[in-house]
Amino acid sequence: QAKRFGGDRIEPFRPAYKGAGSGRLEMESDLRRAFDRNELSLAFQPIVRLHDGEIAGFEALLRWEHPKRGTISPSEFIPIAESSGLIVPLGQFALEEASRRLSDWLKLTPDGDLTMSVNISSRQLIRQDLVQDVKNALDRYQFPARCLKLEITESIVMDNPERSAKLLARLRDMGVGLSLDDFGTGYSSLSYLLRFPFDTLKIDQSFLRDDGHPQRPIILQSIVTMAHDLGLSVVAEGVESEEDTVRLRQLQCEYAQSYMFAPPLTPEAARRRLQDRQMGLKRAG
Ligand code: C2E
Ligand code: MG
Ligand code: MG
Ligand code: MG
Repeated sequence: QAKRFGGDRIEPFRPAYKGAGSGRLEMESDLRRAFDRNELSLAFQPIVRLHDGEIAGFEALLRWEHPKRGTISPSEFIPIAESSGLIVPLGQFALEEASRRLSDWLKLTPDGDLTMSVNISSRQLIRQDLVQDVKNALDRYQFPARCLKLEITESIVMDNPERSAKLLARLRDMGVGLSLDDFGTGYSSLSYLLRFPFDTLKIDQSFLRDDGHPQRPIILQSIVTMAHDLGLSVVAEGVESEEDTVRLRQLQCEYAQSYMFAPPLTPEAARRRLQDRQMGLKRAG
């Protein structure tokens, strides 16, 4: 299946900076310059509805094309961006660029049935102006608030629970969607689901790796059932097998996001996929 996206496919990463120490400092100053030199961009990975295989939305994922080192993974540079404070302008760039694409792509989907998910880091959430940044984006690009979803990881919420809860409640009141990302990893606490106003739960990829544990399907089932009982939609991240896809469909898990369905795409390829979707829907209707 991945073959269909051949030329558009964004390749997996190799570590670009070796070790800690000076590598880290070098990466930080490179990242600072990258911002001014337009080396940063977004890739868009489809989030697919499991019952019909159609695109429900996209997750915006930062990409850094280093002139000498090639493409650098966000797992490498996001932590550096967070510790250096660079995450703030980076995050603003991601929100702005994703909003711009969303408003463009909504013109291809007259029913307004499209979401754009943007990852939010702790520094960004704690900053006063995330709410203002989101307001500005809504104002400027004129899309319905519900089309924007912010992805938050559990550890972020842990950092400053009181303040995070207030900010998330304000965003939720504006109508913006809130997804709990990487659920089941780190300092996972089920109490987050009570304390914070999430509407979507993203099951971490680690639950979709077939590691031979016979109990894995039981855990998967429990997470989906619990989420549904709490009124949350579920996205399964990194689904790898047909078996799991069938299983998730049976559990009425709403969405999947994985290489098996579609890798992160260039904006042009993502737009084309959406156009194809609309053609398909017209034919079906
Ligand atoms: P994430 O938010 O959990 O995003 C999903 C990651 O899983 C992406 O990695 C995606 O390419 C990868 N993925 C998707 N399908 C599959 C699959 O089938 N198998 C496997 N093995 N992986 C799959 P990516 O793009 O490298 O991003 C890594 C992380 O970097 C993201 O994890 C997110 O935490 C962070 N990140 C990316 N963009 C941003 C951003 O704009 N802001 C912030 N704060 N963090 C970002
Ligand atoms: Mg995410
Ligand atoms: Mg995730
Ligand atoms: Mg992650």
